[in-house]
Amino acid sequence: MVNQQPHFRLREVTVKSIISASKLADYALNPYAGCQHGCVYCHARFATRFSHPNEEWGSFVDVRVNAPQLIEREARRNRPGGVFISSVSDGWQPMEERYQITRQCLEALIKHHYAITIQTKSVLVRRDFDLLEGHPSVELGMTLTTTEAEVAALFEPGAPAPEERIEMLSGANRIGICTFVFLGPLLPYISDRGKGLKDLLDTIVRVNPDYFLVDRLNPRYGIWPSLSAAVAKYDPALVPKYREILYDRQIRECYTRKLYQRIITEARQHGLTDKLRPCF
Ligand code: SF4
Repeated sequence: MVNQQPHFRLREVTVKSIISASKLADYALNPYAGCQHGCVYCHARFATRFSHPNEEWGSFVDVRVNAPQLIEREARRNRPGGVFISSVSDGWQPMEERYQITRQCLEALIKHHYAITIQTKSVLVRRDFDLLEGHPSVELGMTLTTTEAEVAALFEPGAPAPEERIEMLSGANRIGICTFVFLGPLLPYISDRGKGLKDLLDTIVRVNPDYFLVDRLNPRYGIWPSLSAAVAKYDPALVPKYREILYDRQIRECYTRKLYQRIITEARQHGLTDKLRPCF
């Protein structure tokens, strides 16, 4: 499903630099600012809080049209290393089909021998398997917060359905691309326990990635209005529980401890302990 905000705004921009230092790898690369997937819990809002102060997250995208050319320039002065695509947007969001900026960036990064880690919710990345296949230093990650299409449509309104993403990653696995799954953020009372969590771990068994990461819901900048609205649509009774888990320190600590235990137990029961990498 494509996020169709009635007031969607697209801008083509040029930027001064494109490869930035990152905690996720040596470097991060964001060919776009803003993201059409419009996830209600998205941490990336902070990155556009000054450039798009009054615009709703998911309703704008800046296309950094000179990104591939900048890589050519910056590759000459940067130390070699790993690049994460993308840290504050999805490099394969729907706009990429038309612009192919991320694909051109991939070509430039591969030419300059960077290691590449991709994390996406998009199935469009399949278009670029020809670049990734056989590359020794590429890993492809897919984000999943729930296996339920209706839940994903509420919390990640512009992203492809979970089953489509799972198919995409299975396809990458079949052709030998190194893969991982990012389960996060787990949605409290929805996919962080019981059948919701079990279904996610069943999916890991089915896809058989090289490893999988798990993260909790975090109190990121500016998320509460969109997150609470989605939770209210799912079940209004959960809104105060989400507020406590996010913003009450004691409850959050208790929640985190119990969540960690549930994940460890579920991973053990699924025979996945060796592949589990908790992020908290
Ligand atoms: S896909 Fe990632 S960057 Fe895009 S809105 Fe969702 S969480 Fe944010």
